[in-house]
Amino acid sequence: MIREMEKRKREKQEGEYGRDSTRSSPAYLEEDYQRVVAGEVPSRFLPGSSVEVIREVRPKRAIRHVLFDFDGTLSLIREGWPEVMVGMMVEKILATGTREPVEAVRRHCHEFVMRLNGKQTIYQMIQLAEEIKARGGEPADPLDYKAEYHARLMEKTRDRRESLRSGRAKPEDYLVAGAIDILAAIRQRELEMYLASGTDQKYVFEEAELLGLVPFFGRRIYGAIDDYRKYSKKLVIMRILEENRVDGSVLLGFGDGYVEIGNVKQAGGVAVAVASDEAGRSGRPDPWKRDRLIGVGADLVIPDFRDWEPLLSYLLGEGGEAEDAL
Ligand SMILES: [Mg+2]
Repeated sequence: MIREMEKRKREKQEGEYGRDSTRSSPAYLEEDYQRVVAGEVPSRFLPGSSVEVIREVRPKRAIRHVLFDFDGTLSLIREGWPEVMVGMMVEKILATGTREPVEAVRRHCHEFVMRLNGKQTIYQMIQLAEEIKARGGEPADPLDYKAEYHARLMEKTRDRRESLRSGRAKPEDYLVAGAIDILAAIRQRELEMYLASGTDQKYVFEEAELLGLVPFFGRRIYGAIDDYRKYSKKLVIMRILEENRVDGSVLLGFGDGYVEIGNVKQAGGVAVAVASDEAGRSGRPDPWKRDRLIGVGADLVIPDFRDWEPLLSYLLGEGGEAEDAL
C-alpha cells in the first residue's frame, strides 16, 4: 500500500501546491534532496580537531559574507521537533480510516519528514496533505497544518523558552557548542553575517533574541513567511550577492540541512556542514547528517563549533594549515 502510494506521490510531486504556473522565477522553489557526490569520500581532519576536510578549500578571494542556518546549526530550542511533527501527521493520517498499521504509518511519515528536512516547514505539510488525499481523505490547507504543528511545538518547547526568558537557563544551554565563540570571532574579523531559516520569521526573531544572537546579525535575520513562494534560502543568497555586487566565491555558509549546503555550493561558495548531534550533544558528528550533507557537496564537516579556531584559520587562510596540506 505504502509503496504504491509512494509511486503515485512521486508522479504527483510538486503537484497542485508546489508548481509555479509561470515557472519564470524558480529561485523560490526549494528542490528535493539530490545527491551530487556519491559514495564514501576520502577526507582528513585538521590536526587535533574535529574539523573534517572533505574538499580542500582555497578560496579565490577572501570570504566576506557568512551565512548561518538557524535550527540545528546554532539553535537547539526546537530539538525534538520531528517527534512532534510525525506524531501529528500519524494522527491525521489515521483519521482517514486507513487500515495500515500505526507503526508503518509512523515510519513512512518519519521517512518523508526527514527527507524534506531543511526545506521550509510548509513542504512537509504539503506532503501530509498529499498523503491524506492518497488515502481518500479530505486534507486541510497545508498552512493550517503548519499552524497546528507550530502550536504543538511551542507547547513542547515552552519550558525551554520560559527558562531562557527568566534567566533560569543560559543561552549556551540551547546553543550548539561554540556557537557564540565563532560568531564573536567572525564579527571581530568584520565579515557580514546573515541568518537564514526555514522556520517562520517571527519565531526565528524571537528565538534568536532569547539566545542572544540578534546583536550578531542585526537586521539580517531571514525566515519563512506564509507565502512560501516569496522566500527561500536561495533568494537570500541571491540578494546578498546582488546587493553587494560580489560573486559566490566570497560566501561561506554553515548549515545542518541540505538546502543551505546545496544553495551555497551552487552559488560557488564554501559550505561547512554542521552535523550536529542535537539530542545527544556528544561532540561527534551525526552520521546521517554527515553523509547527507557530503552528498550535496559540503566542503567541511564539523560536529559543532568547539574547534572554531583551527576552523576559521583554515577557512580564512590565516594560518599555515592550507599550505601544510599540499
Ligand atoms: Mg537546520
